[in-house]
Amino acid sequence: MKDFVYSALPSRVVFGSGKLASIAAEVEAIGANRALVLCTPPQKAQAEAVGKLLGSRLAGIHDGAEMHVPIESARKARALAVELGADCMVAIGGGSTIGLGKAIALEAPIPIIAIPTTYAGSEMTPIYGITENGLKKTGKDVRVLPRSVVYDPDLTMTLPLSMSLVSGMNAIAHAAEGLYAQDGNPVMSLMAEEGICALAKGMPAIAANPDDKAARADCLYGAWLCGTVLGNVGMALHHKLCHTLGGSFNLPHAETHTVVLPHALAYNSPAAPEAMIRIAGAIGAENAAVGLHHLAKSLGMPTALKDLGLKEADLDRACEIALSNPYWNPRPIEAAPLRALLQRAWEGAEPRP
Ligand code: NAD
Repeated sequence: MKDFVYSALPSRVVFGSGKLASIAAEVEAIGANRALVLCTPPQKAQAEAVGKLLGSRLAGIHDGAEMHVPIESARKARALAVELGADCMVAIGGGSTIGLGKAIALEAPIPIIAIPTTYAGSEMTPIYGITENGLKKTGKDVRVLPRSVVYDPDLTMTLPLSMSLVSGMNAIAHAAEGLYAQDGNPVMSLMAEEGICALAKGMPAIAANPDDKAARADCLYGAWLCGTVLGNVGMALHHKLCHTLGGSFNLPHAETHTVVLPHALAYNSPAAPEAMIRIAGAIGAENAAVGLHHLAKSLGMPTALKDLGLKEADLDRACEIALSNPYWNPRPIEAAPLRALLQRAWEGAEPRP
């Protein structure tokens, strides 16, 4: 047994079909009286349903959440929260909406209650991201960690199938890297394995029938576990590469995770054999990297960076950017194998462990 340090983040989770109905009680439980509900424009109807449930505790609805949390939109939302005298925020949506709540909480002492409707996992982490002058700056601050999280699988029924699948792979990526994290621990590894297992069971089932409520619940349960891993242990090559590709080449978040993950795992497999065995076991495959590539392919998810809009001519620059910022990874990051990884991911080739 490897030595470890285990330190849990405070969080309260309410999980289950129909649990949205408990939102007013959650607001009351944190001692708040005036909630500002945050959402994106397409999720306004869900936000209004939350507003109705809040009744006299509703301060207002702000449907201005945007991808990558531009600083201007965070400032506007923060000013509105202050103007309305909000003493809590209810963020209903995916990582972008919860990210807006975090950007507000970073500078105003207003707690967040999150109602996640994708599998991205931001609700379980103290990590925030804000985009200023085209650069996405990320940081960690426990003030942005949601005070409570309501997971209601009914709210994910409207998540389009393609988005559901890539979002599930995004969640699996957190758990996969958590299994070889430098600061990993046995509790997070158990959660990671169980999270991957729940998603690998739920994703094919929702691909077969997007209205399968039990499968939607499996995926959301997996997302909670994988998000918890992301919030508690450090990530490595895979997350850094996706950050580079998303930030510098504007590639879509969850789709990029889906394409890169098998290749990043193939790169790290010689240095993290135990993690690979656990990932492979959780997805029921012989090999973690190849198994995830096949899972993506068999469910019709993207498997090539060229299909996400990256040009082959950009691969050298992507490699340079990824090498320019040193960080911990189980296998040292070297130029030639990293460039080969990117080439295979661009082409959509099978990963080469
Ligand atoms: P997203 O929040 O950008 O949502 C994508 C679109 O799907 C939006 O239009 C949204 O309104 C819509 N949508 C979400 N749930 C829906 C539902 N149930 N029904 C219908 N439409 C729905 O996507 P995401 O993948 O959840 O989040 C990605 C962002 O979150 C990225 O910017 C990423 O960096 C960030 N993120 C942050 C963390 C963290 O810990 N800070 C973790 C994961 C992701």
